[in-house]
Amino acid sequence: MSHNGEMSARSEGFSNPSADQSRLAEYRQVSTESPEPDVIRYAAELLDSGALVAFPTETVYGLGARASNPKAISDVFLAKGRPLTDPLILHVARVEQVHELVSEFPEDAAELAARFWPGPLTLVLPRHPDVLDLITASQATVAVRIPSHPVAQALLLETGFAVAAPSANRFGRISPSSAAHVVSELAGQYDLLLDGGPTTLGVESTVVDLSGPVPKLLRPGGVTLEELSEVLGEITYADRVITAETTNAPAPGQFLRHYSPLTPLLLVEGDESLTQQILQALGDKGVTALSVEIPQDQIEAARNLYQLLREADATDAKLLLVRPTQSAGIGRAVNDRLFRAAQGRSLKDCSEESVRRALAIALAELP
Ligand code: AMP
Ligand code: MG
Repeated sequence: MSHNGEMSARSEGFSNPSADQSRLAEYRQVSTESPEPDVIRYAAELLDSGALVAFPTETVYGLGARASNPKAISDVFLAKGRPLTDPLILHVARVEQVHELVSEFPEDAAELAARFWPGPLTLVLPRHPDVLDLITASQATVAVRIPSHPVAQALLLETGFAVAAPSANRFGRISPSSAAHVVSELAGQYDLLLDGGPTTLGVESTVVDLSGPVPKLLRPGGVTLEELSEVLGEITYADRVITAETTNAPAPGQFLRHYSPLTPLLLVEGDESLTQQILQALGDKGVTALSVEIPQDQIEAARNLYQLLREADATDAKLLLVRPTQSAGIGRAVNDRLFRAAQGRSLKDCSEESVRRALAIALAELP
């Protein structure tokens, strides 16, 4: 399956009237093994001047802006159509830089940093007063990460400053795991796109809140709950937490409508034969549904998840059906994204009532 393949036809033609129409929209390929210094230097200069640069990380592509530049930061919100109540993650190259962004760096943070940075782990810590309110959504905390992707590393080393980089997609939509996804999501809304090929992990970073008395897993991701427990001992995680879009989210990824295809998606909480029964029952009523097959292997499931959802979204199907994977390891992250992509809706049987509900959702008679 090609990661750089076709984009969702339905997501093309995006136009955000409030977004800046005069961006450079440049595209450069960059080697992941050894990022070309001149390309990295150019990208860093653009960031320095307040431009928006999309770049690969090991999780998904980010839309980067200089953290100390309020105009650039507000441009990121505009480009994504992201509500200002949804704070951004800051990315840096070295742990010493993190100390300039936070007012406390507890022992737990030091241990997690030593074990998992650089890598797909975001720490939420008490903020330094100099961090812009726009970035933190005026909360008392700030989210920080040191990514491991060589392109992200090279870029952050070159800039020497913190870069806010939310996923390079329109708010609420499927995150980009390839440069083609970024083009399809944000065409024209960035100054430069660095194409470093498909991302390795495929789902967003794990977010851990260390600002309270007990560490809290806010978003499952590349670093697993099991791995975190080894270091932290106690850590709380509330599965399937939903945050209203109107409130300041403790973790923006917790919004229910998130990672969503445009075609409605339903979780099937049963075995493969239940999926087949539902497909059949819907087909009998003249509605084409599609079963999205998530790979058994959880690493593969995470890596391919967003590409599979995009491909399914680009078909004529009126409804997508997906069976969650095993809820352990990185499977937790996959299931979290699926749950939100499904906006929390699931089918547990093929009763008349269930089929009626699925039909209503497919025909957009239900929210
Ligand atoms: P993304 O748009 O994919 O970069 O996702 C942003 C993520 O940042 C959310 O899912 C949150 O988990 C996280 N985040 C950023 N700032 C904060 C904060 N101050 N408190 C909690 N979570 C945060
Ligand atoms: Mg996102």
